Amino acid sequence: MKPFAYLRADSVDQATAAYASRPGPRYLGGGTNLMDLMKLGVERPATLIDVSRLPLDGVEEQPDGSLRVGATVRNSDLAAHPLVRDRYPVLSQALLAGASGQLRNIATTGGNLLQRTRCPYFQDVHKPCNKREPGSGCGARDGVHRDHAVLGHSEQCIATNPSDMSVALAALDARVELRGTDGERTVPAAEFHRLPGDRPEQDTHIRPGELITGVLLPAATAGLPSLYRKARDRASYTFALASVAVVLRTGEGVVQHAGIAFGGLAHRPWRALRAEEALRGAAPTTAAFEHALDLELAAARPLRDNAYKVPLARNLALDVLGRLAPPHAD
Ligand code: SF4
Repeated sequence: MKPFAYLRADSVDQATAAYASRPGPRYLGGGTNLMDLMKLGVERPATLIDVSRLPLDGVEEQPDGSLRVGATVRNSDLAAHPLVRDRYPVLSQALLAGASGQLRNIATTGGNLLQRTRCPYFQDVHKPCNKREPGSGCGARDGVHRDHAVLGHSEQCIATNPSDMSVALAALDARVELRGTDGERTVPAAEFHRLPGDRPEQDTHIRPGELITGVLLPAATAGLPSLYRKARDRASYTFALASVAVVLRTGEGVVQHAGIAFGGLAHRPWRALRAEEALRGAAPTTAAFEHALDLELAAARPLRDNAYKVPLARNLALDVLGRLAPPHAD
């Protein structure tokens, strides 16, 4: 591993100032992904700025009924929090579907949002990878890509985002809080990650030096029926082949609100906007669910070995929608 300088920040301002002034900086949260990548030689920071002990470890109800989750709240604490379990069960379920108990005890909310793809070519410095080394090629496109993207990929990169938590945040209309030396801003969780395009080395829309300070869970989706389902090769401790988070409100015989996001299908959590639009105002029938999902998944462009993901995602979502709003007879 390349030698690096280490400093522990006592405040957000100190952390962002250090990022702006130190060579080769990276923020360090729980380190569950970053340390692995440093050992592999994929990440080679010159300075680690430890932000894991910043006072951002609270889950606080806001006056407007939303919930603010600090960036250093551990994944296991967030999943177990009574307000999260009660109001946003899809988030608790998604967190518990990720990683292992040991990893969830150390991984942070901010770090979960920033974890990098587990594409094996990205993790092997001897293989071509446009994300790790722009211009070197994409080993996965003509190589092993059974786990890779079917939606929104580019010639340069077909990687998927590995985070379960981010899929639930996208479906819940959560927002990500960011702080840089220029001030604060929030971005919708569904738009925090990028599609690869011709800049696959950039996973997110975060600006250089910006620190994730928290996540806002809106009052509007609090308490709505919600569910997360994940298909994977074994029962625990592995990434999604496909997953879905759904937040659904029905009333007066129609769908009044639908938030649907897929995981394991794209370079970012895939918010199913076409399906949501098709469902809004429709009777919650199996036919309506199938029609909406077919509209959404018509955009899929499967690769040689991953066409199975399209029906897998469709069936997962159909099952979840049916559980949340048992359909009327068609
Ligand atoms: Fe690299 Fe993306 Fe290709 Fe994987 S899919 S080898 S991360 S460029």
